[in-house]
Amino acid sequence: FAEIPSDYPVPGKHLKYVKDRTIDLDNVDMQGGIVTKNLVISIDPYMRGRMRSAEAKSYSPAFELNQPLTNFFVGKVVKSENEKFIVGQYIYGFGGYEEYTVHSKAQTDLLQVISEERIQLGLPLTTWVGAAGMPGQTAYHGFYHIGEPKKGETIFITGASGAVGQIVGQLAKREGLTVIGSAGTDDKVKWLQTELHFDHAFNYKTADVKAELAKFDPLNIYFDNVGGDQLEAALGAAANHARFVECGMISQYNTPDAHGIRNLILIVAKRLKLQGFIVSDKLKEPSFHQEFYSKIPKWIANGEIKVKEDVTKGLEQAPEAILGIFQGKNFGKAVIQIADE
Ligand code: NDP
Repeated sequence: FAEIPSDYPVPGKHLKYVKDRTIDLDNVDMQGGIVTKNLVISIDPYMRGRMRSAEAKSYSPAFELNQPLTNFFVGKVVKSENEKFIVGQYIYGFGGYEEYTVHSKAQTDLLQVISEERIQLGLPLTTWVGAAGMPGQTAYHGFYHIGEPKKGETIFITGASGAVGQIVGQLAKREGLTVIGSAGTDDKVKWLQTELHFDHAFNYKTADVKAELAKFDPLNIYFDNVGGDQLEAALGAAANHARFVECGMISQYNTPDAHGIRNLILIVAKRLKLQGFIVSDKLKEPSFHQEFYSKIPKWIANGEIKVKEDVTKGLEQAPEAILGIFQGKNFGKAVIQIADE
């Protein structure tokens, strides 16, 4: 992380691939922790919010300048001074955009071993940072606990082909809702219709969003991944007492002069519930872990839930791939494959 961006992060300027350090695995100071060889690392939109100065407070810490970015990753334990971790185990948690990460004893508290039972499901390692990791948890929690879906209702999902949206859409189909989704290319729209069996999907860049939503019953749930104009359109198309799951607003992350939403009065007139959430709050509840991991990885393994991932090979591609998610270049969950094993 080389420089704080004011709008889009520019590869080679704000984000740089550098070879400026080595690790001597025979003499590394682990401080009672472990060393992981990093295999995959996630790219997520919230990372843009971490590209800020340390003084500006938010729910997740600012990235440290001139240090590797950090995010959800899967790695393999290659050295351990901590009895809870054994060499050869796969680990999920926070790691660095680097080939090896040294996790101090305190940092290992935030890591979890991917159990042998889970490994036996045979999912690609990338999926543990995607549908079977934080974005899947976001979809599950936002849809069920905030959306409060009921069979026969209508849901509109923006960013529908992305990491979160594709899972929300499939959960909604399972629960018997009418599912409408939007995405930014015709290929993504086609995939939503033909592979995920959305009832309707459209390209928000070329279609009239209000006219598309008007073709259906009023919305009972809006799962918001993007904010901006589509949020405004969803307010107009909402039924009385609709639930707005405010998951994210990616259209605003690189825009210093974001414009306001013009029809907020409809929140009152239609008695809407708009609720934001941060999934990490929910992840502190052991019962949520149990509920999520007992269902979603199995549903993926047996094909009940399909997963589309956009895997970029090699850390040197990371700056471009990170910028890419803010330009709609990823088709599915964006992940970097750092090493094969
Ligand atoms: P995605 O995999 O969907 O990747 C981002 C996608 O957003 C792009 O591919 C692009 O798709 C779309 N996009 C980019 N810019 C715009 C824009 N200006 N207007 C509309 N769409 C745009 O990301 P995720 O599924 O991981 O994340 C989706 C949302 O969920 C984000 O807002 C993220 O911040 C939020 N989130 C919130 C969490 C929480 O705890 N509240 C946790 C995890 C994610 P397209 O081609 O369709 O435009």
